[in-house]
Amino acid sequence: MGRIVQKYGGSSVADAESIKRVARRIARTRADGHEVIIVISAMGDATAELMDLALKVSPNPKSRELDMLLTTGERQSAALLAMALADLGVEAVSYTGSQAGILTTPTHGNARIIDITPGRVVRSLEEGSVVIVAGFQGVAQTTKDVTTLGRGASDTTAVALASALGADHCEIYTDVDGVYTADPRIVPSARRITEIGYEEMMELAASGAKILHLRCVEYARRENVKVHVRSSFSDKPGTWVKPHDEVRKAGKMEEAIITGVAHDRSEAKITVIGVPDQVGAAASIFQVISDAGINIDMIVQNVSRLSDVKTDISFTLPMSDGRKGIEALEANKNKIGFDEVLYDDQIGNRRSRDAFPFGRDHHLLQGPGGRGRQPADDLHLRDPHLRGGQHRRGGPRRPRRPRRLRPGRRGGGRRLRRNGSLRGPGGRQDRPPGALLVGHSDRPIQRTATGVTS
Ligand code: ASP
Ligand code: MG
Repeated sequence: MGRIVQKYGGSSVADAESIKRVARRIARTRADGHEVIIVISAMGDATAELMDLALKVSPNPKSRELDMLLTTGERQSAALLAMALADLGVEAVSYTGSQAGILTTPTHGNARIIDITPGRVVRSLEEGSVVIVAGFQGVAQTTKDVTTLGRGASDTTAVALASALGADHCEIYTDVDGVYTADPRIVPSARRITEIGYEEMMELAASGAKILHLRCVEYARRENVKVHVRSSFSDKPGTWVKPHDEVRKAGKMEEAIITGVAHDRSEAKITVIGVPDQVGAAASIFQVISDAGINIDMIVQNVSRLSDVKTDISFTLPMSDGRKGIEALEANKNKIGFDEVLYDDQIGNRRSRDAFPFGRDHHLLQGPGGRGRQPADDLHLRDPHLRGGQHRRGGPRRPRRPRRLRPGRRGGGRRLRRNGSLRGPGGRQDRPPGALLVGHSDRPIQRTATGVTS
């Protein structure tokens, strides 16, 4: 008999039938003699729909009221699940995040958990009830207002509760049967990973793998909570996320060089062509970008052309900041002294560990001064991966109207999720990848049919 936290995502409780199905699964765990704490997400796309509704009522809703509204999604599914469990003869009680003692910072929309006082949860467990906690929410310790923890953060609620309650482990139920080496909906040959270390999982989550919320993995690592990612639609074994040194090596095989590949399509790349190759030139570019309030991610500087002692510098930034970045650079063109600016939003950001196959000349493989290599297992390489687009002169397009995403049928074609992990039919993910851009190449950047390659 143990104490287990189970979290069910929105796709697992999308309608009344699914709620009853999840209730049967919970009843089985309870019948095995475990104490069960459930963290639940809002039904299906409920959070996104509430958000749409708010924006229809007001173009600029107050974040406090938005949190009041969005937290109702989880409250709804929690109460419904308690009803379904009662019908199966299982004693169950639902709590909001606030009632469950989840204390947060006062930042609406992106609050952080600072403490958990789970008195009521523990008492209900002692009385033999299954406890259902509404995910993704808490109450600000200072203002006493209801807060939300950021989209997808029910995972974090679950791990935080598992830690506070000293649970044996935390099961995260979703609609895929574990963590894969790549997104199986895009790469059909992707393999399920049986066990993965916290650090690798953090890398994957940070670079766009949507399966676990990044803060959930950070929390799990800090508090040493073992996380079991599984499908609520099957009994397949799933993936364990645990300390790296407890990850079982597959037989006698060598440890995999690449654990997984995640992607992030929300980034764009700016290339500044013809920058004078002198001390301070790069700094002046990044000063301008930073003054515009833009966070950049990766920087690649080419070796300079001897003919004119100029160089090209590329960096990646959030696509939503593309226009701002180009405008800031154009406004400072004379001061910085470059020839032209190119923009490309047809990139994806790919991250993997220890990526020798991506090119031995990668700057990260070289120690300070360009000599020597860092120990291979310290490497977390990320490569902006061109997705077949042309560079655009004159900056980014006007932002397109966001495509409406509708959930697809299960098992039928591509499923579109509200987090946008797959785009609509004809979306850019269908294009064959263009060229890889690896850092600090010793060849000059050339323009090719698909954009720029090293
Ligand atoms: N319902 C919230 C969201 O859609 C939280 C979650 O599902 O984790 O972001
Ligand atoms: Mg999620």
